[in-house]
Amino acid sequence: MLQCTAVTQIPYAEALLALATMEGASEHPPDVVEPEDFVLCELADHDETAEHAAHLWTADTPDDRDLWFLWSGTGAHRVHRLDTLRLCPAVLRELATRTVTTCAYFDHHTGPHSFSVTDPLGDLIAEHVHSEVRRLVSEDDAPGAPDGPDVPDTDAP
Ligand SMILES: [Zn+2]
Ligand SMILES: [Zn+2]
Repeated sequence: MLQCTAVTQIPYAEALLALATMEGASEHPPDVVEPEDFVLCELADHDETAEHAAHLWTADTPDDRDLWFLWSGTGAHRVHRLDTLRLCPAVLRELATRTVTTCAYFDHHTGPHSFSVTDPLGDLIAEHVHSEVRRLVSEDDAPGAPDGPDVPDTDAP
């Protein structure tokens, strides 16, 4: 499942206010959002009936409430809200590798959990990094070793 590609601009003053007044507020909201900040919907690709959502802030409260920016529509038709939402309780346990991955979204979000969603851009970057690493490693493998003259095949009849 691919990630939604919706992008929108954060209403700066509103976001600052929400960050400053929520439970477990940020001590310095201007560090969290900037006046011209755009955010990307983090949910899996979804239809227009569901809201887009971008995570803004992890609150310093015992019950894991995060501040999310939720919106639908674009431009002048955009409808948005800032809301503190509980974390999605879903957890992916991989017994083979003993890893536990928690869903990064909020409770009752639409679509699949975050661990089932791939970010095409992130994957592209990761793939590029991996191929760079492979290239560097293979260069390191044979430091200065010349390819040398071809040794004639000895298993010829
Ligand atoms: Zn979306
Ligand atoms: Zn989830």
